[in-house]
Amino acid sequence: MVDVVLSVVFGYERDEVIQKLLEDFRDMINFCIEKALESNVTSYAKLRKLVYEEWKQRWDYSTHFCHSACKIASSMLKSWRRKVRKGEAKKPPKARKLFIRFDPQLVKFEGDRLRISIRPRQFVYVRLKYGEYQRRFIEEWRKGKLKVGEITMNGEKVIVPFRKEVDLTNPKDWIAIDINESNVTGISTNPHIIRIEHGLRTIHTTYFEIRRRIQKLSKYKPITSKRLMQKYSGREKRKAHDLCHKIAKIIVDFAKEHGFGIIMEDLRGIRKNINKGRNLNRRLHSWNFRKIQFFIEYKAKLNGIPVIYVNPRKTSSLCPRCGGKLAPKGQRLMKCKNCGYENDRDVIACLNMLRMRGAPVPPECLSMKLGGRNSSRWLNVTFKPP
Ligand SMILES: [Zn+2]
Repeated sequence: MVDVVLSVVFGYERDEVIQKLLEDFRDMINFCIEKALESNVTSYAKLRKLVYEEWKQRWDYSTHFCHSACKIASSMLKSWRRKVRKGEAKKPPKARKLFIRFDPQLVKFEGDRLRISIRPRQFVYVRLKYGEYQRRFIEEWRKGKLKVGEITMNGEKVIVPFRKEVDLTNPKDWIAIDINESNVTGISTNPHIIRIEHGLRTIHTTYFEIRRRIQKLSKYKPITSKRLMQKYSGREKRKAHDLCHKIAKIIVDFAKEHGFGIIMEDLRGIRKNINKGRNLNRRLHSWNFRKIQFFIEYKAKLNGIPVIYVNPRKTSSLCPRCGGKLAPKGQRLMKCKNCGYENDRDVIACLNMLRMRGAPVPPECLSMKLGGRNSSRWLNVTFKPP
């Protein structure tokens, strides 16, 4: 069993008491850093002992705030010392941003609010702002399926780490998931093909047209057009968001049913198969890809399904059978110049991802075709234009 932690961000209503607390806590950290440097103390325990008496005279808060401040100060000093050794830093660290990492004794998560104990038997309540995403976590937490870890608060957000004990054992089979602008394709080692034709592109092209029409209006009715623009971009985002959730759910349910681990491409900094002409298109697509990946990852983790990422370089240009160079053949197919192997380009991307996991790809997988045996192409998640 492993502890899976998912950090969820909540908004909150900040008032003067919280503002003061945040500022005081920052002062506490800097006070601890100063003291540690003065006496050349390195460990957290020694630092706490060193500062405690003076801290108590300066601040009238629960003792646990002292512990938290010492913990943060000592970890800041630790990373500073490491940088000094490498010659990367000189000036001692200083806390500038407002934030508090609460000792678990200080704060109680109550679903829609936090109860912070400022002093013994004196509490401050912080109302949390949340949407559908956060609500799911709250519900799971209420059912006792999730535990709450060390909560952090900064000037704008509260970050709640939810922990769940799951059995992320090494699965026997893996599924590689390729996400692109018109479909999501998955190939598993056992072997299965799943293909989800989704309407994400339709959403964006539809709203692109709508936006263009509104823009024409802006000359005559600037205020109305601005209002319409906001309304429709909000709608577009929500539609895409919902669809991403649906796609992720299908993938994770499929993986859960078959006991697969999930392999995806590490898309950080890399955009692939994207219409290069339009910047906006590009942004929307990479935004959707990441969103789908993010949803798949968190849903997978909650279900105890391991997720690994592989480098997407060359996943779509090399032959999964012999490693030779591929050339496009028609719209969808790719053919190997070396051994003549050919398949759908997205299927090939998945096969290469399976290969990059480090284990050989079973030969049955290489002969899998879209629409062939074990192929679930019928999964359609579409979007009806308004
Ligand atoms: Zn080949």
